[in-house]
Order: sequence, then structure tokens, then C-alpha cells
Amino acid sequence: MSAIMAIVGRPNVGKSTLFNRLTRTRQALVHDLPGVTRDRLYGRAIIDDRQVTVIDTGGFDPPADQPFAAEVHAQIAMAMEEADLILFVCDGRAGLNPADLEIATRLRRSQKPVIHAVNKIDGPRQEDEASEFFALGVEKLHFISAAHGYGMSDLADDILAHLPPDDELTERLETPGGAVFLSPSRLAERDEPPEDEDIDPKRLAVDEIRVALIGRPNVGKSSLLNALFGGPRVVVSDVPGTTRDAVDTPIQVGDKKYVIIDTAGIRRRGKVAPGIEKAGVFRSLRAIDRAHVVVAMMEAGEGVTDQDLHLIGAAMEQNRALIVVMNKWDLLAGDERRRKQLDARLEEALRFAPWAPVLRLSVLKGRGVDKILPLVDQIFAQYNSRLGTGRLNQVLEQAQIKHTPPSVGSRRLKIYYAAQVAVRPPTVALVVNDPKAVHFSYRRFLTNEFRKAMGLEQSPLKLILRGRS
Ligand code: GDP
Ligand code: GDP
Repeated sequence: MSAIMAIVGRPNVGKSTLFNRLTRTRQALVHDLPGVTRDRLYGRAIIDDRQVTVIDTGGFDPPADQPFAAEVHAQIAMAMEEADLILFVCDGRAGLNPADLEIATRLRRSQKPVIHAVNKIDGPRQEDEASEFFALGVEKLHFISAAHGYGMSDLADDILAHLPPDDELTERLETPGGAVFLSPSRLAERDEPPEDEDIDPKRLAVDEIRVALIGRPNVGKSSLLNALFGGPRVVVSDVPGTTRDAVDTPIQVGDKKYVIIDTAGIRRRGKVAPGIEKAGVFRSLRAIDRAHVVVAMMEAGEGVTDQDLHLIGAAMEQNRALIVVMNKWDLLAGDERRRKQLDARLEEALRFAPWAPVLRLSVLKGRGVDKILPLVDQIFAQYNSRLGTGRLNQVLEQAQIKHTPPSVGSRRLKIYYAAQVAVRPPTVALVVNDPKAVHFSYRRFLTNEFRKAMGLEQSPLKLILRGRS
């Protein structure tokens, strides 16, 4: 699970420009995700080997009738409560503003580490003029230009220095819920793919399937949980454990164990300005991080909203198994036209996660609820599956016959072999002569070929590339 850094500051100081610069390394990946392009709230920054989730609090648009001060206050309250690290940005061109002083004072009272940056310093000369910002009473100021990249490497170093310790897996596998069998780098040193016996089957075992239930307020999460926990054969074991972001409820059905990570039951503890229920995004991100299977709930009345897309995007980006639940299907009873419209919209939303199944249900009418856990089992089996090395390489060979790898640049791509290196999700390393020679679309093609051939109809598969000359 990666640390969360929130970028705060008055409007127009350059928060989103800075956000884009910090998360640009991942653009290629995030780029095409639906809803994420226009107005991304969060992204991943990779600094050296660390991964940071960056939140652009400016992206949480306030209701139109809310005064500007309230917006900034709400952002800051949210950041102070939810983030591990706060990046406070001021505008060096506009000069020091009373609101900046006020924000700095409030941030000082929080227990969180705060990094201060003065933006729009488009050259070293302007640093002198911006020295008035030392009136914020801080020891260290970063003079940066988010637009041009000035000062970014010092800033990145300081971010690294302030991150909480990270017990993440090596190789940036981003599989906190997963298990790694083999180091992809070590693998790249070999001439032949590893034998299946190299893989320790114990790594496959999990005690329970962790299911996160996420969704906007009012889509029906609490209703679903009540229905689920009250269902036949469901034993709600133990007292639920509360973490700072969710309630974890262990349940058992027959001999199957699950932990339901519930973001619905938590209501705001602190006093947060109205209109900022969207702080739920933080909670959802953390719940997604801790889950194997994400159940993303929406409701038919409002259809697929931008916030729904953000959440799906987050689950996809984290390579989680995903079930989309469209609740309140009863509202569209008898309206074939709207049902079709909504289906089309869903299909569009899941363009990049065609493997994610959609359940249309009505919790109110008790329809479809009993399908959820069996579907979770089915998907988890795929998500946690072992792909045989022999078969994997056959599929690779066939795929290359179907489509010769296109070359990027002058170098001809050579793929030596494929091997599974991790589960949750199934992660395949391709050992190639030059990772840069693998075109994005070819990568996607191979991913889909592997998925289909290996029976991962409803699970993502992660492909990583390792170079060897
Ligand atoms: P936000 O409201 O804080 O998210 O601010 P934006 O990122 O939208 O930036 C506000 C304006 O400042 C935009 O017109 C940006 O192009 C501009 N801007 C952002 N960073 C810089 C910078 O480093 N130098 C200059 N000169 N302009 C910048
Ligand atoms: P949460 O905020 O996501 O936990 O949503 P709730 O479970 O509190 O539900 C919000 C509202 O939607 C409540 O008034 C529920 O009665 C209603 N609701 C839940 N499921 C359904 C459904 O399947 N159909 C309809 N029409 N309403 C529902």
C-alpha cells in the first residue's frame, strides 16, 4: 500500500500542473482510462523505487454556491485527516497572500509532515523575489516551476525523505495482496523459463478473500451489507475490526471465509465542511489497496457518474479483481430504452477492463444479492491462479504467429520467453531484448491473448517486461 500525499493550496497556484508533472511517469498507463483523463483526482508518482499516491485536492470541485474560503478549508481538513504527507503550494507570481498564512498556520497544527513549495518560479532570479514566503515561518521552501520542471528533483528528494516507511514488494509489483514467486530481474538472467516446480504452492494460499465494497454515497452500500450479512448460511464471525478507513467484517459461508471491507459504515469523525463527502475517495483508495476483489457499486437512477469512473479507474490501476454492481435496477423496470442506454454506458466505462463482470440487481427487492459471493469466489480463483510455464510459452508463440511483434524504433523486438512471477493478480514477466521496443498496443494484445488462453475471463492479468541483451 502506498503512502498518500495531498497537494493543497489556493485555487490557481498550479496544483494540477504540479500533480500532472509528478504523476506523469504513469500517464501512459492512466492516460486512456475513462473519466480519468479530464479530471483526475489521484495518480501515482514513482520516485526512485517508491510509489506515492498523489491527490489533487483542487480536483474536488466545491458546490457552486460555496465561497472560495470554504473550499480551501474543506480541502485542507480532508488532507490533514487523510493524507500521510501534505504538499502545500503557493503562487510565487501572485506573491504571499493572507490565505497562505492562514493555511500554513492550520497545517502547522496538524501532526502530518508538510512540504512547502512556491510555484511559478520560472527561473532562479525569481527566487529572490519570492523570499517573502519565508514569512510563512517555515524552514525549508521549495522554489519550483511546475510548468517547466524547475526545482522538481529537490522536491522529489524531499518527498522521499518524508514518506513513511514502505514495506512494499520489490520490483514495483504493486501487489500488496499478492504473492511473488520469482524476481523478474533474476529471471531475466536466465536462458530458459523456470520449471513449474520452482514455484512454491504455499504462496497461493490465503486465509480469506478480502472484498472491498466501494461506491458513492447513496448507491445502496449499507443496504447491500445488511442483506449480505443477514443472508442464509452467512455467519458473521467476531466483532468487526475498525481501521481508520473502513470496517472489516469477517464472515463465513460454509467453509469459505471472507473479510468485507466496508467503506459505507464509516461516517465522518471530524468536522468537515459540507459538500465534501467526496473525501470518500481517500477511503476508497485505501480500501482498494487492501482488497483482493473490489465490488464497485453504482445505481441505475443516476447512472454512471464521473466519480464512479474514478473509482473503477483506481481499482484497474491497482490491478484488482473487479465486480461492477449496478444497483436499483428496479428503478428502470419497464423502461427498456434506459436499460439499453445504461448498458451501453457501462460497456464504454469498462472498455479497458472488459474482464470485469457487471451484476444488475436490486437490493431493495432482494434480487441478485445472492449472486455476489459466488461470483467473488469464481473471480478470485482466476485472480489467484497458477499458469503453467509450458502453456504460457505456447500461447506466446501462437500470439507471435498471429501478430508479428511490430518494431518501435530501429531495434527489432525479440521475446525470449514468458514466466509467471506472481499471483493476485496473475503476473507474467516477458523477457525481451529491449522493453522499450514493445509497443503499447502489442502489449495489450499479448495481455489479452494470455488472459483468454489461460482462463482468466474475469480477472486482470499483469504483464511486466524485463530486458536482456
Ligand atoms: P490549480 O487551480 O492550483 O490546480 O492551478 P493550475 O494547475 O490549474 O494552474 C493555474 C494556472 O497557473 C495555469 O494557467 C497554469 O498554466 C499556470 N501555472 C502552473 N504552474 C506554473 C508555473 O510553474 N509557471 C507559470 N508561469 N505558470 C504556471
Ligand atoms: P449507501 O449510502 O451507499 O450506504 O446507501 P444506502 O444503503 O443507505 O441506500 C441509499 C438509499 O437507496 C436508501 O434510501 C435505500 O433504501 C435505497 N436503495 C437501496 N437499494 C435500493 C434498490 O435496489 N432500489 C431502490 N429503488 N432503492 C434502493
